[in-house]
Amino acid sequence: MSCDFLALALPGVQKLSPYVPGKPVEELAREFGLRAEDIVKLASNENPLGPSPLAVEAIKASLPELTRYPDGNGFALKQALSRVFSLQPEQLTLGNGSNDILELVTRAFVSPEHEVVFSEHAFAVYPIVTQAVGAKAVVVPARDWGHDLEAMAAAITPATRLVFIANPNNPTGTWLGKPELEAFLAKVPERVIVVLDEAYTEYVEDADFPRGFDYLTQYPNLLVSRTFSKAYGLAALRVGYAASHPQVADALNRVRQPFNVNSLALAAALASLGDQAYLEASRAINREGMLQLEHGFRELGLSWIPSRGNFVAVDLGCEAAPVFQALLREGVIVRPVANYGMPNHLRVTVGLGMENQRFLEALTKVLDRG
Ligand SMILES: *Cc1c(COP(=O)(O)O)cnc(C)c1O
Repeated sequence: MSCDFLALALPGVQKLSPYVPGKPVEELAREFGLRAEDIVKLASNENPLGPSPLAVEAIKASLPELTRYPDGNGFALKQALSRVFSLQPEQLTLGNGSNDILELVTRAFVSPEHEVVFSEHAFAVYPIVTQAVGAKAVVVPARDWGHDLEAMAAAITPATRLVFIANPNNPTGTWLGKPELEAFLAKVPERVIVVLDEAYTEYVEDADFPRGFDYLTQYPNLLVSRTFSKAYGLAALRVGYAASHPQVADALNRVRQPFNVNSLALAAALASLGDQAYLEASRAINREGMLQLEHGFRELGLSWIPSRGNFVAVDLGCEAAPVFQALLREGVIVRPVANYGMPNHLRVTVGLGMENQRFLEALTKVLDRG
C-alpha cells in the first residue's frame, strides 16, 4: 500500500470539491458520436460572437515574440485600462482570468482563523478559494435567489476578513442596485475587504446600475474584479483585472506568479478594450437573445430568474438533471446548477439566434411539450 497522499494535503484541500466546468464540445462529440459542428454549447457564458477581429490581429502580430517572456507588469494594458476607466495604474492588478484575482486576494489576505462571507447560490469559485486557504466560509441565505446584503452585513464578525459579492451574480443572474450596494458598503468595517466581482458588468445597460470603480475612492477596502472572458470574448486566453487601493494591489502583486498573464492575452485584451463596436455588438446579441429565450420559456410555461448577465436560469419545476442529459443527446450543452443548490434549474448562456432556437426546440422535444 503506497502512501495516502491526499491525507498529506492541507485540511482545506482535502475537503475541496473541484470546480465543475461546462462540458466541452469535443467531449460530448466523443461520448455521443456527434459531429462537433452539430453541437450547440450554451454552458459557460462564453461570447457567441467569437473574439474581436482586432484581438485576432493583435495575437498574430505578437506571435514572433513567443520566445520572450511576457511583460510581467502588463504595462501597456494597465495604461489603457487606467485611461479608459480613469484609474491610476498602481490601483490595477492583472490576473490569469479574474479567477486568478479572486484567488490572489484570498491568498494575500485570508488565513485559517478568518471568515469569508458570501451568498448562497453565488459563484462556485468563492467557496473553493476560501477552503483552499483553510478559512471558514460563511454562506448567507439568498433572498429571491439574489444576495441579501442586509443579512450579509449582519454576518460580518470580528473574524471576517473578506466578503465576495457578484454583481450580476452567476448562476442566478440577479443584480444589486445602487441603494442596496451603497448601504452595504457604508456598513462594512474598513478592515474587511469587499470583493465586488463584476464579470458581467459590461452586459448591463441600466443607466443607474452601480459600477464598482465609482466607489473606490470612498471605500479603500473595496476591490473590483473584471474580466475579458465574457463580453470581451477572450475566455480561452485567461485575462482579468482588479482595481483596488494601491496597497491592496501591492499585496496581490507580491503573491502572484511573475508572468501570470501571457503575452497573447495581454495583446488581445488591449485590442479588445479598444473595440467599442465589438462590445456594442455583443450587448445587442445578448439583448435580443435574452428576449428570444424568455419568449421561448413563456411559450413552454416555464418560469425563470430575471437576469442581467449573458445567461439565464430557467426553472423546470422538476429535477433538471435528466433534462440536462436528454438535451446532451440532442447535441445541446447547458449547465446543471444542482451544485449551486438549484436542482430544478438549468443555466443557459445566451447564444446566437440560431443557437437559442436549437436549444428551445430541443427543450420542447425533451419536455414533450411539442
Ligand atoms: C466567469 C466568471 C468569472 C471569471 O472568469 P475568468 O474567465 O476567470 O475571468 C468570475 N466571476 C464570475 C461570477 C463569473 O461568472
